[in-house]
Amino acid sequence: MLRDEIRKITPLPVKYVVYSHEHWDHVSGGQLFKDEGAVFISHENCVAHFKDLPNPDIVLPDQTYSGEHYDLTLGNRTLQLRYYGHNHGDCLSVMTPAHVNVPFIVDLGTAGGMPLPFIPDYSLHHWVRTLRELEAEPFDSYVGGHGIPVAPKSRLTERRQYLEALMSETKRELDAGTGLEDIPDIVATRLTARFKHLRNFELWVRDNVRRTITYYGMGW
Ligand SMILES: [Zn+2]
Repeated sequence: MLRDEIRKITPLPVKYVVYSHEHWDHVSGGQLFKDEGAVFISHENCVAHFKDLPNPDIVLPDQTYSGEHYDLTLGNRTLQLRYYGHNHGDCLSVMTPAHVNVPFIVDLGTAGGMPLPFIPDYSLHHWVRTLRELEAEPFDSYVGGHGIPVAPKSRLTERRQYLEALMSETKRELDAGTGLEDIPDIVATRLTARFKHLRNFELWVRDNVRRTITYYGMGW
C-alpha cells in the first residue's frame, strides 16, 4: 500500500496529492489521503475527463493549474509541475522536485519497454514532440511510471527513436500501396534489428503498426 510506504519515510501527514494525468490506473484510491486533509492538484484539463466519465474511486481535484508551469512549495521544498500539451491524454504533468532535479515522467518513457499494443490515448506526433522537449531539458535521469524506479535519459531517446521508426516505416508502406494486412509483418521485420531488445517487442510490435495505420488513415 502506498500509505504504508509513505509511513516508512515520514510520520507526517500527506498535505498534497498531485495527479500526473487523467488515467484511472494512476489516480484511483485517493480518498484515504483526502480523509487526512490532503489538497488534490491537477492540470485543469483533467477535470473535464473526471466529470465526463465519473469514477467513484477518484477524488476530484481541489486546485488546478493552467498554462505550462506551476510550482508547489511546502516548507523549503518545491515541486515543479510542467505541462507539455497534448501527448498522453491532454493533462499530463511532469513533476520535478527542484532539489534533486530528477523528473517523474509517467507513461511517456517506460524504460526499456514497448508502447502498449494499441498505444492507448497517445497522440503519436505530440508524443515525439514532447520527448524531444524533455530530451533538451537539463537532467540526467528520471523516474518512470509502472515500476521504473530510475532510468537514464537515454531511455527517452530510445523511445522516441522507436516511435519515429514505427511511424516512418508504416507510412512508407502505406504510400507504396502495400496491403493493410501485410504491413504489420513487413514493418515488424524492418524494426527487429534495432528494437528487438525492448520488452514485449515480438508480442506487441504488429499491434503498434496497426494502431499507426489508423493514425495515418484517420489523423488520430
Ligand atoms: Zn496513462
